[in-house]
Amino acid sequence: MIIEKIAESNFNDSVFDSKVFGKNFSDHMLIAHYKDGKWDEPKIMPYGPISVTPAAMSFHYGQTIFEGMKAYKNEDEEVFIFRPEKNFERFNKSAVRLNMPEVPAEIFLDGVKAIVDLDRQWVPKDYGTSLYLRPVMFATEEAVSARSSNEYIFCILLAFAPSYYEKPLSVKIADFYSRAAQGGVGSAKCGGNYAASFFPTSEAQKDGYDQVIWTDSIEHKFIEEAGTMNVMVRIGNKLLTAPTSERILNGVTRDSVLALAKDSGIDVEIRPISVEEMYEAYKSGELKEVFGCGTAVVVSTYNAIGFGDERAELAPLSDEESFATQLKKKLKDIQYGIAEDPYGWRVKIEETVNA
Ligand SMILES: *Cc1c(COP(=O)(O)O)cnc(C)c1O
Repeated sequence: MIIEKIAESNFNDSVFDSKVFGKNFSDHMLIAHYKDGKWDEPKIMPYGPISVTPAAMSFHYGQTIFEGMKAYKNEDEEVFIFRPEKNFERFNKSAVRLNMPEVPAEIFLDGVKAIVDLDRQWVPKDYGTSLYLRPVMFATEEAVSARSSNEYIFCILLAFAPSYYEKPLSVKIADFYSRAAQGGVGSAKCGGNYAASFFPTSEAQKDGYDQVIWTDSIEHKFIEEAGTMNVMVRIGNKLLTAPTSERILNGVTRDSVLALAKDSGIDVEIRPISVEEMYEAYKSGELKEVFGCGTAVVVSTYNAIGFGDERAELAPLSDEESFATQLKKKLKDIQYGIAEDPYGWRVKIEETVNA
């Protein structure tokens, strides 16, 4: 790995006062080029713009995939990342689905560790704050020709992730649009999935909701995800979530929350959840909680669900009663190095680059 350090760091403490997610980039980025069937040696260099032609194929045909993970600092200034092998595996699954080259562990995992190590002063310490890590790959071959690109850039960017008060959101159940289709790219973390979701989301916002609960694309009968998160539903004292599939992204937060729920003695069921079942549970007062799971906010709670024209308000639960609040705290305590990590999820970033 080639390392070209920045001449003078852009870091100052006021970065950590920012309330904006994903806008304050650290000193460095990692770049690797794929050409002639192979990856070149990755280079860590000062963060900044790169030059690409407008004919770069990703702009036209959308071969772009990404990942999202976080780095945390504990009280002893030790830096950790959370389950990075999961993101690595998923990234390469996305690559295969988009017909892009897989990225070797020596570039993805060793790259993440090296750049986080180098920019460790950018990892904040306050509970709830973190350094967001964004691996991304895009097609760069210069050709307006509708086929897979022969050239790609893999890149890792790091940006400050603030802690902000997360107010409960309202979500509308999709009865027309879809995020993903059977046989499509729903389980890949590709840019196009996001692009396709923005318009339906803005329509839901016109109806007074923050986000969309996506349903199956055939009949809109079963719930699949919420916004860009996996979704969990509590009916009575049971925690339900849909099985992952080619339409549902296999979230690391989902997997971690499920493990924590099971080990907390919560009755967990992984099975399809119909809109009708949710609505019946709402009518009978058994629909206690609905929440989303994802790396960016960990757990996002929903206080209103749009079933067609009916807005179902969910009564707030106390912190002690709420599965969402309990599980979120358990997960964050492991991520921030406050609680024991019996699962081996935390990966410590050793100090080598700066030493
Ligand atoms: C990234 C993402 C998630 C959450 O995955 P995590 O690994 O928990 O961050 C869920 N759904 C979609 C559509 C996503 O893109």
